[in-house]
Amino acid sequence: MTETNVIVGAGQAGAWAAVAMRRAGFAGRIVLIGAEPHHPYERPPLSKTWLTAAEEPEPSWFHPLARYAELDITLWLGAPVTGIDAASCHLALADGRELRFDRLLIATGGQARRLAVPGGERALVLRDIADARAIRARLAEARLVVCIGAGVIGLEAAASARARGAEVTVLEAAPVAMGRAVTAEVAGFVCDLHRAAGVRLEFGVSVTGIEADAVTCADGRSFPADLVLVGVGMARETTLAAAAGCAVENGVVVDALTATSVPGVFAAGDVAAFPHPLVPDGLLRLETWRHAQNHGTAAGEAMAGTGRSYDDVPWFWTDQYGVNLQVAGLPGRAARTLLRVAEPRRLVAVHLDAEGRVVGVSAAGAPREIRLGTQLIQSGRVVDPRVLADPTVPLGSG
Ligand SMILES: Cc1cc2nc3c(=O)[nH]c(=O)nc-3n(C[C@H](O)[C@H](O)[C@H](O)COP(=O)(O)OP(=O)(O)OC[C@H]3O[C@@H](n4cnc5c(N)ncnc54)[C@H](O)[C@@H]3O)c2cc1C
Repeated sequence: MTETNVIVGAGQAGAWAAVAMRRAGFAGRIVLIGAEPHHPYERPPLSKTWLTAAEEPEPSWFHPLARYAELDITLWLGAPVTGIDAASCHLALADGRELRFDRLLIATGGQARRLAVPGGERALVLRDIADARAIRARLAEARLVVCIGAGVIGLEAAASARARGAEVTVLEAAPVAMGRAVTAEVAGFVCDLHRAAGVRLEFGVSVTGIEADAVTCADGRSFPADLVLVGVGMARETTLAAAAGCAVENGVVVDALTATSVPGVFAAGDVAAFPHPLVPDGLLRLETWRHAQNHGTAAGEAMAGTGRSYDDVPWFWTDQYGVNLQVAGLPGRAARTLLRVAEPRRLVAVHLDAEGRVVGVSAAGAPREIRLGTQLIQSGRVVDPRVLADPTVPLGSG
């Protein structure tokens, strides 16, 4: 009988898993099931060009529809999966259909978190095309925009709102921007870009309510707003996986070959927590574009029986005010940071652990440094910090 491999979640990880599985030689049936009505598309433009372009952009598809047909990948779109029975290898869909699987990939990503405060429903969040359309429409009129949350997506949305001419205030509960994704030096660099563009940033602010025309805070302050955007992170879509019996701990727990604790069930992308050499004391979970693609690919290959141990160096980028910041490795695990270049729109920072190994590199306007830095991170070498801090010596020398 023909084998059936099913992927729940037609996002980035799911799309790449389907294609990789076929390329790796799986000859059975592949069904890619997604809750959204669209075939898989890139999310990064949603907080950038989607909010700033005069005309609504065409979605950036990972693969044209014809590619799925060519590879004999069946797409079920607009079709939320409601339950997985791992014992009988069946899943159920909201529309009443059922499907038997031999192997299953859970690539369900997550939902944008909402603020649980009175009036929280008035704020707009940003995760998918429908969200980006709603924000675009409101930005056409909005003059006073308050962004709650100074994470990457909140700050990109703030930069986009500013580019549309709105007065923008960013409110953040923590004392710094961008959490553990970057170090304080790098967060400071990004905040300076916002301030130079006229954005007001307020830290240590606890939002207590969202009214029709203002955001209210615990310290008694109130910030006028005709549009409120919330970027306070993603809630992982782990419900199905947990109900199917998979271990869940910050995300769906997988091994280096993307297998969950339930035989025949795999997980990849934003939803999965996986082992990584840079995190010897636990599991890593990433919410980044390249990881979703490569982890999805690794899962597809594993499901085709040609898996490899996944240990890619983490990497993400953000574009704000025409500055492209890239971050490789895990700066959040650094004990100290060396600044090789620190200019208003250019930055190169090298992040070292307590033993002096390079665990991260952050670079704005210097993509070559990221390439060399990634090799250094992979090597685990200890390099003389004076050499690392000297911008005249290429990274990796010494
Ligand atoms: C606005 C925005 C901007 C971004 N910008 C950047 C950037 O500049 N740089 C960067 O590195 N990364 C960026 N990212 C992160 C990157 O896009 C994500 O890491 C990536 O999309 C994760 O892919 P995924 O497939 O794991 O999850 P997702 O893309 O979330 O896909 C999961 C899919 O599963 C579907 N699903 C969930 N539950 C079910 C169910 N029960 N049944 C059927 N389908 C289901 C969902 O509808 C969704 O389509 C950005 C993300 C967003 C939201």
